[in-house]
Amino acid sequence: MSSIKPWTKSVSRSAALAVLAAVSMAGVAQAQVATTQSPASQASAAALAPPKLIVTIVVDQFSANLFDQYRGRFSGGLRRMADQGLVSINGYQSHGLTETCPGHSTILTGMHPVETGIPANDWIDAKTGKEVYCLASTRNHLAHGRDDTDNGPVGTEQLQATTVGDWLKAVSPQSKVFGVSGKDRGAINLAGHQGQAFWFTDGFGLTTYVEPGQTAEGRLAPVAGFNRAFNAWLAANPVTWDYRNGECRALAGDWTIRGQTFHSQLPPARLAFDNTPLLDEQTLKAAEYLLDTQKLGQGAATDMLGVSLSATDRIGHAYGTQGPEMCEQMHRLDAALGDFLDKLAQAPGGALVVLTADHGGSDFVERLHAHGYPHARRLDTDAIQSVNTALKTRFNLPVDPLQAGGSGLMVADAEHKSLPDPLRTQIAEAAVEMLRQLPDVAFAETRDRLLAEPIPDSRQPEMMTLRERMRLSTVAERSPDIQFALAQNVNGGGRVGGTIGGHGTPFEFDRRVPIIFWWPGAHGEERFLPIRTVDIAPTLAHLIGVPAPQVEGRCIDLNGFAVADCPATAQTPAR
Ligand SMILES: [Zn+2]
Repeated sequence: MSSIKPWTKSVSRSAALAVLAAVSMAGVAQAQVATTQSPASQASAAALAPPKLIVTIVVDQFSANLFDQYRGRFSGGLRRMADQGLVSINGYQSHGLTETCPGHSTILTGMHPVETGIPANDWIDAKTGKEVYCLASTRNHLAHGRDDTDNGPVGTEQLQATTVGDWLKAVSPQSKVFGVSGKDRGAINLAGHQGQAFWFTDGFGLTTYVEPGQTAEGRLAPVAGFNRAFNAWLAANPVTWDYRNGECRALAGDWTIRGQTFHSQLPPARLAFDNTPLLDEQTLKAAEYLLDTQKLGQGAATDMLGVSLSATDRIGHAYGTQGPEMCEQMHRLDAALGDFLDKLAQAPGGALVVLTADHGGSDFVERLHAHGYPHARRLDTDAIQSVNTALKTRFNLPVDPLQAGGSGLMVADAEHKSLPDPLRTQIAEAAVEMLRQLPDVAFAETRDRLLAEPIPDSRQPEMMTLRERMRLSTVAERSPDIQFALAQNVNGGGRVGGTIGGHGTPFEFDRRVPIIFWWPGAHGEERFLPIRTVDIAPTLAHLIGVPAPQVEGRCIDLNGFAVADCPATAQTPAR
């Protein structure tokens, strides 16, 4: 990492009386719960027993905007969830640095990145100058035997919060908890500390991490059969991606991005398994394999399965959100989810699905510009460099002091190690003043000043200031010296064949995500007041009768289930 570089990584609630009744929660702690009397209008809809299977689906980079855009055209699983489910179109990842690892960390912990300890996908260790991956492990190995692949050895050491699966297993050790994804951070954040996480790795199939005292063979046993079938399928079926929808074909076109031509069409120039709809289709096949072979939701105990679908994100980064590639992905994802819901509808103990996203996204800036957003542009890197040059002169330094790292800027020496204080603080504060003068910068503040401020209330996430959003993404010893955000629709870097679009900003298109609860027999309900991804964990815990620690999120009444209403007091942790 040399000096500054473009950063791309970038019915109203039933008023019926609640009648206390003891409901047997076999396998979970015996819990006193209440049944809700159905109002006359719903007298025919008998309240269901709490489901034995909880499935969390995270569609990586599935913005509320993208869901809105295709909602009327879905005909498969997303249509069923949209029509039958409890739909919150205004779901929020409340924090400012809208990346995959922090976004996934909020969903089943009920906590913001400031509390999960995952501010970004990676950060710089100020002492060593080395980059640290968000789920890096110093003690584990990768089960496929190649610690130099993927993000290196991973585990849950960096994740400072526990998940619903962890709470469940604490009271119900026989419960099974799994996570599966195209990405390690998608699987691990959903599996939590006690569950088993599997993700795809090149040339192998699904892998996982191996902790001290475990064997790779033992850890991979739950997916060994899947991997055999997957590799046979891959060998027999060359990766292809062609049009299935005329409406998508009509979106094809050529674009000039930083002097290179991008042919937005199918198949794309660089075709690979993991940037096509095949990735999600196979991830869902892996999820079905785990459902069958692990008999999830078929026993007395409640089980949990997390499924993080990575293709939407890979496609958004490589091709943008408004071309034929994303159009085909939306339709293929919708179809694959339809098959998956068919499967879940057969779960003998009932199933509940919650679908959301780790963050949103927006299109690449050249197409945004052509679509009537003249301010959409690539970052003026010269302006940032001028700040660096001015700081170097002013503080009489041998090298530029600002270096990109951890989705912000570090104040560092030539070896990327943090400069000593008070010099580091002086430079950071001077840099912030200068960065704020740049038209490409919407927000800049030092980590230390943000850390000195209280953690803001996020119960009205749409009303939060940029500063409050960024505070929720600031973690001591992990966040960079300077937290900052580019102006709306200003994109750093970009390369045809690599990443041309993405996410990561504190703006609505990156924060607003759908949150949909669906279960067989759900009757369809729309809710517009914002809820947050941190509200999912306490909601699930309440539904399955698992005691939750105090978290940022609040329980949301789903209706339809024979459980008590959520506690009336909003949960706000003491600070
Ligand atoms: Zn992404």
